[in-house]
Amino acid sequence: MAVFNKIALIGVGLIGSSIARVVRERSIANIIAISSRSQQTLDEAQALDLGDDYDTDPVKIVNDADLVILCTPVGVVGKIAKAISGHLKPGSIISDVGSVKVSIIEQMLPHIPDGVDFIPAHPVAGTEKSGPSHGFSTLFDNRWCILTPVQNASDSAVATLKDFWQACGSNIEIMDAEHHDKILAITSHLPQLIAYNIVGTADDLETITNSEVIKYSAGGFRDSTRLAASDPTMWRDVCLHNKEAILEMLARFSEDLSAMQRAVRWADGDTLFDMFTRTRNIRRQIIDAGQEIDVSNFGRDD
Ligand code: NAP
Repeated sequence: MAVFNKIALIGVGLIGSSIARVVRERSIANIIAISSRSQQTLDEAQALDLGDDYDTDPVKIVNDADLVILCTPVGVVGKIAKAISGHLKPGSIISDVGSVKVSIIEQMLPHIPDGVDFIPAHPVAGTEKSGPSHGFSTLFDNRWCILTPVQNASDSAVATLKDFWQACGSNIEIMDAEHHDKILAITSHLPQLIAYNIVGTADDLETITNSEVIKYSAGGFRDSTRLAASDPTMWRDVCLHNKEAILEMLARFSEDLSAMQRAVRWADGDTLFDMFTRTRNIRRQIIDAGQEIDVSNFGRDD
């Protein structure tokens, strides 16, 4: 049975289009309305038959929606919430999928009208690809979706959104937005920055050519390039909107890197061995938790 009669997706890139696909495939809502900033992306979504109604103006698709989800970069949610605020259906739920949560609440909360439940959400699932063509219906299967409800959100609305994400395949965790931003700073935002930095450093080297970097990339470098190929707008916004938590994790990381640097400089093999043993166990735990496949070389043939 459908969880909602109509859902409205504002933004139909990787995440929005994956939601549209799974909702349609598993009949989680009866009607899917889609908005995107550009006519080109909207046409792409329509050609893929992702929804029932399409409009570049988000105001036009939210009217009678029971659930509205903002699936745009984090930096524009306040502007969009302000625009649609007067058009939301009383009793509906408004949510998002942004990779940061405190800033989303700060931007959107002032525009949420009485009688509408605001429940920010973050499906911790994704790829380095962008746009409607790259979405897929199984993206959220067995991945965590973190809900960070604001204080006055009703328990029944939280339960309904939980049902929705479970129907999409996710496991649900509820936590406060500050805690979410700290966890994601270390598990997602910092690795992303490190990847951008490694790839940038390799690109800047003078004694090793770019073609050599590319030729010998199977030595580990190419695994960083996957992250570093992610959408620049999305990641710029994540850095700007989770500044404090990212700076805190970067400071910790820099200290630990200095310790590792010292161990290499002083040929302290025991320290290096202990560290590498500890980190190997973390990967084992991620595989055991079903968040990674237990196949060498990420399942590649070469
Ligand atoms: P995406 O594939 O790049 O799609 C972005 C969508 O937002 C497109 O419909 C785009 O419209 C629209 N958009 C872009 N800039 C806009 C603006 N200034 N005003 C209004 N609309 C705008 O992005 P995505 O990967 O789906 O990410 C969307 C959200 O999901 C982000 O907040 C991100 O933090 C979060 N998230 C991403 C991942 C991931 O791995 N990608 C994982 C979890 C959460 P046009 O194409 O028409 O311009």
